[in-house]
Parts: sequence; structure tokens; C-alpha cells
Amino acid sequence: MDSKNKIVIVGAGISGLTTAYLLRKEGFDVTVLEKKKEPGGSIETVIEKGFLFDRGPNSALETTPLIGQIVEELGLQDQLAYANKEANKRYILRNNQLYPLPMSPPAFIGTKLFSAKAKFRLLAEPFIGRSQDGYYQSIAEFVKRRLGKEFLDYAINPFVAGVYAGNPEDLSVKSAFPKLYELEEKYGGLIVGTIRSIKERKKRTEKSKQSAKMFSFKNGMLTLPNSIASYLGEKVIFFSEVKSIAKKEKGFQINYENAGQRNSIECNSVISTVPAYIAAEIFKDWDERLTKHLQEVYYPPVLVLYLAYKKSDIKQPLDGFGFLIPAKERKSFLGSIWSSVIFPNRTDENKATFTLFVGGARDPEIGNVDKDILINKVRKEFEQIMNISGEPVFQTYKYWSNAIPQYNIGYIEHEKYFDEFERNNPGIILSGNYRGGISIGDCIKNAEVITKKITNN
Ligand SMILES: Cc1cc2nc3c(=O)[nH]c(=O)nc-3n(C[C@H](O)[C@H](O)[C@H](O)COP(=O)(O)OP(=O)(O)OC[C@H]3O[C@@H](n4cnc5c(N)ncnc54)[C@H](O)[C@@H]3O)c2cc1C
Repeated sequence: MDSKNKIVIVGAGISGLTTAYLLRKEGFDVTVLEKKKEPGGSIETVIEKGFLFDRGPNSALETTPLIGQIVEELGLQDQLAYANKEANKRYILRNNQLYPLPMSPPAFIGTKLFSAKAKFRLLAEPFIGRSQDGYYQSIAEFVKRRLGKEFLDYAINPFVAGVYAGNPEDLSVKSAFPKLYELEEKYGGLIVGTIRSIKERKKRTEKSKQSAKMFSFKNGMLTLPNSIASYLGEKVIFFSEVKSIAKKEKGFQINYENAGQRNSIECNSVISTVPAYIAAEIFKDWDERLTKHLQEVYYPPVLVLYLAYKKSDIKQPLDGFGFLIPAKERKSFLGSIWSSVIFPNRTDENKATFTLFVGGARDPEIGNVDKDILINKVRKEFEQIMNISGEPVFQTYKYWSNAIPQYNIGYIEHEKYFDEFERNNPGIILSGNYRGGISIGDCIKNAEVITKKITNN
């Protein structure tokens, strides 16, 4: 093997593992250094007392054919589980009532979720011009201008909470929702743009996030990282926390601690896939500006609460993906996913399981409150909304102190600097979910982009 081909990847989350997988197939000698004892990063599946639950992502969207290809190559087809058709129905809470989000023009006209005024306001959308300062516009400003305030409050606000656990007033429309921004930039509006871009996408065999199929695995989301890690075998070194990276005459020296022992490894290229605030530590001796940009990427906390009940205790029909809560409704949590409705094998047929999300950029104070008090409050609200009479038969939670990076206004400056740093330091790539999108689909697409960049060099 040509020593030029030696690559070290820091982090065995889905970004690092997919990149390692693709590069290995191209003949590179790839080593992955992972701090923890298992792969997956934010992807964590646990099986306990007959319940299967995901503490991080519960599902992903098949937005690129590469996902199906990897699943097939790893022989995981019979493990794959697509979401039940019930999952197409999503509820929004308004005045303590759950309303299905309208998914077609007739449903939109008939829905009680939006007032008649809000519906008429939508008709004005094609006549609204482009914004002048898109770079620095929040998704809230963008939507208010194009679609009106009620649409922002009862569609976009809960949607943003569901995807980013984020705040629409802070998230940059260009960085966090590039496709939406592009519809205005390229086609002049959302309605015209959606129709035209569907036609163009069909030609490219790409799927939009709205039409891509939702999937998980019979044994939970961890199946994919576990399987890629098995394929890579001893090339994934666990319990290895990278502390620093030094430039050598040819290539780099990666310094890490393995089970308390200092160690190092040399390579020609290094791909960092750790969260931005950890990359800031690893690269702190390289460049003050890089450290500052990395530190400024905001990761709010999220508490994931998992609840299971007897089906006979639940009056709310279990016929949907779950529900999201607009900030205006002033509840203690962001929404819930009805996990056992969507995927098989989550529990037995007499029980139903739910995953609730609490905090995020809407309520970062959850970091400072007593978790038991918070959980009790959330549980009571949830049981009231769902019309549940009995106690949970199982309950557990995971607190993520730094959950999901926020592509906030000004993010564009970080992005520009990350690009500049990579140009000035050939052989170093900054990757991970704070670049190119937070979804699992985006992390996988990004791994493909990086692989092409390296193989073309
Ligand atoms: C609660 C939650 C729910 C989510 N829900 C969804 C969802 O439904 N659908 C979806 O598509 N996405 C979802 N996401 C987002 C998605 O899961 C993540 O964006 C994605 O998994 C990130 O992958 P990554 O590899 O970029 O980073 P990470 O998963 O963070 O991986 C980074 C890895 O680096 C390791 N590491 C850290 N420091 C070091 C070090 N110094 N040395 C070596 N290794 C180190 C970590 O241990 C970790 O394994 C969710 C995220 C969270 C937190």
C-alpha cells in the first residue's frame, strides 16, 4: 500500500464511519479513532426489559441512493424497516388539541389548524419578491415575509423544533434550510419553485426530504454504524481520544490517549468528524480564528424522554408519526414521536412506546433544572394531551448536554472560514454534522463528497 494513502478519521459517528467505509472501498488505508467503547456517536440504541429504544435519532430519510447501496453491500436489507404508512400523519398541538398537519391542497383548505385569514395569506406567496439580505435572514423572518405569521407559528416553528430542536428566530434560512432559500433565489418563490424543482430532481434521481422514505432497522438505528464498524474491523480503534494534531514534514501526527496511555499515529490526511467544540480543542494550537469559529457553533441541550404505556390506557388513536408543539402553546416539551406505531419490534403488541424531546434552543434552561421535576411535568402534560389514564410501564431518559449544532445567523462566516482553513492546510478536512447538514442523510451525502474530493486529488 502506498503510504500516501494513509488516512486517519477522528470519530466513529455516522459521518466518520461512512467516510471510512467509502475510502476503504477506494483502496485507502483508513484508521478510525473513537473516544468511546462503541460506534455510532449520536446514534444510540438500547434494549431493556423488552423495550427497544433509540436515545438519539429514531429514524432517517433515504435522501440519497447511496444509503440503499450501503445497506445492500452490508447485507442489511432484511434488517431494514421502512416507516408504517401511519407515519405520514403528523399532528400539531393547538389549544390543547391535536390537529393533523394538512398534506394536500384540499386538506389544507379544510383544516382547522389554520384560520381562514392564514389560508388566504398563502395565496399572496407567489407575488412576494426576493429578499435583499438572505445571508443574514432567519427562517422566522423568511417565512413571516413569504407565508405570514400564523404559518410561522403553527407550521414552521414546530417543524424547526422537530428537526433542529432549534429556534426559528436564530436559525439562518440560507444555512439551515438551503433548499428553501434556493427556491426563492432560483425561482422567485416557494410555490412556483417547489413545482419546478420536483421536475428537475426527478431527472437527477435525488429525493427531496418530503418524498424520501423514512427508515430505521428492526433492531434500531445503531444497526448501521455497528455494521460499518464490523466491516472496518480492527481499523476502528475504540477508547481512543484524540488530543491534538501536529504537522510533520510529510503529513500529520495524531496524538491520542488509548485507555490512559499516550499514543500517536502518522498519516497523510486527517478527517475530523467530532463536534465543533471538540475540534476547537484538538486544533487549538493551529489557528486562533479557527478555534473561535468552532467554539461559536451553538449546541443546545436536549433531554430525550422515553415512555411506554399499556395500549388499553391510551384514548388518543395511535394513527400517526407523533406530534409537534408550537412555542406559542407554552408546554414543557417540543413534541413526541410515537415510536412503536412507526417501526416494528419496539415492544409487544399490548404496549405503545413514545419518545419525547425536551429543551433545545427553545428552552436551553433545562440544563439547570432538576431533571426529575422536569420529567414529571412533561409526563403529566403528555398524558393529558394523549388522554392516558394509567402510569407508564417503563420510563427512561437521556440528557444530551450538547445535542445538535445550530446553523444560526452568521453561520455563513464560520463556513467560509472552515473552507479557508482547509485550503490553507491541505490534507486536513473538517467534517461532521456542523457542516453540510445535521440529518443522517446529509452526513452520508457529505461522506461521499469528501471521498470524491480525496480520490480526485
Ligand atoms: C437527540 C437527537 C435526535 C436526533 N434525531 C435525528 C433524526 O431523527 N433523524 C436524523 O436524520 N438525525 C437526527 N439527529 C442528528 C444526527 O443523529 C446527527 O447529526 C448525526 O448522527 C451526527 O453524526 P456525526 O458522525 O457527524 O457526529 P457524532 O455522532 O457526534 O459522532 C462524533 C464521534 O466522535 C467521537 N469523539 C468525540 N471526541 C472525540 C475525540 N477527541 N477523539 C476521538 N473520538 C471522539 C464521539 O464519541 C462520536 O462517536 C439527532 C441527534 C440527536 C442528538
